[in-house]
Amino acid sequence: MDFKLLEKTLSDHAQPHFRARQVWAWAARGAAGFEQMTDLPGALRATLAERVPFSSLALQVETRAGDGTVKALFRTVDGHPLEAVMMSYPARSAARVRRSVCLSSQSGCPLTCTFCATGAMHFARNLSASEIVDQALHFRRSCELDGPLPSNCVFMGMGEPLLNLDSVLAACERLPDLGISHRHTAISTVGWIPGIEALAQQEMPLRLALSVHAAEEALRSQLMPVNERHPLRDVIDACRAFYARKRRRVFVEYVMLAGVNDSYAQALELARLLSGPERSTAERRPGATRTRRAPGGPQDSASRGERNAAAIFKVNLIPYNPISAARRAGENGSLRPAYTGSTPAAIAAFRDALRSRGIPTTVRLTRGREITAACGQLAGKGVS
Ligand code: SF4
Repeated sequence: MDFKLLEKTLSDHAQPHFRARQVWAWAARGAAGFEQMTDLPGALRATLAERVPFSSLALQVETRAGDGTVKALFRTVDGHPLEAVMMSYPARSAARVRRSVCLSSQSGCPLTCTFCATGAMHFARNLSASEIVDQALHFRRSCELDGPLPSNCVFMGMGEPLLNLDSVLAACERLPDLGISHRHTAISTVGWIPGIEALAQQEMPLRLALSVHAAEEALRSQLMPVNERHPLRDVIDACRAFYARKRRRVFVEYVMLAGVNDSYAQALELARLLSGPERSTAERRPGATRTRRAPGGPQDSASRGERNAAAIFKVNLIPYNPISAARRAGENGSLRPAYTGSTPAAIAAFRDALRSRGIPTTVRLTRGREITAACGQLAGKGVS
């Protein structure tokens, strides 16, 4: 729903200030249209239905996978495509399913990560806060008759959220009304340092997720050209500063590409990067007394850097969803590299290498493979 248009329409009809909140409360609870807002005057409901589109997005295609993943392709009123996904996971502590929505912040993306379908698309524009919230509202409505409501949100759809931070934050302010708390909302970035610094300064306890994908600067620049502008070491420093201010652990996202970034040595390099300096200044001073650890304890072999890294970072290894040759063709017709996903054995070995260095590491469940659920894949299938 276009909030500005809603507020203007209410103002044009001399409605009291609380009306906008009243309409929003209905929408956030999953109302399907103005006609369901029974505590609004009937004439006003009719006026709103005539003048304010209930969603700022038109649903173009929706696909469902056997694992419960739902992917939606929308168009903005000016015709730009964007995608959003809802994933279902078994809850940890009960038999209930947990649902998470993955939202887009831009139509297309100005950054050109070489493994990403969205990166091969034309960048259209930033999305407004209303267009971001309408993605979540779409799934909120579809869950009304269909089990649990989404309780988690990640900004890992199309676009770099920190290049559109004002709209993303305005959308985040509304998500708790849908049942998605700030603590369960994660904003993902490829490492846009000014955005990380700005995010650290605002009050909502949002999570930060950093797409790393390679610990070596040269390889990362090949995979993610943004690394030339914001080198990984500087980005990691910005993440440490984010943690120091917010005390919110940073998720490190690492997509597993066979033969590219999935070797044992690369896992150790990632562990070194996250662990930072191994010894404190005091420990480096000649004659400084070293702290003794109890032998045999769980942290016995962990360096100070590893213990710091375990507090600050948690790594998610992501099995790769290959993109088609058609999608790999960039806007200028040049074909981007063909990556394949790492084998389960390679992913497990990488995970174990990180854990052996004290880095908390999980492998993300694959979701929606048959409906090409990775960002940009549906828009690139000829339906955009
Ligand atoms: S991975 Fe993210 S930042 Fe990189 S091209 Fe894709 S959408 Fe853009």
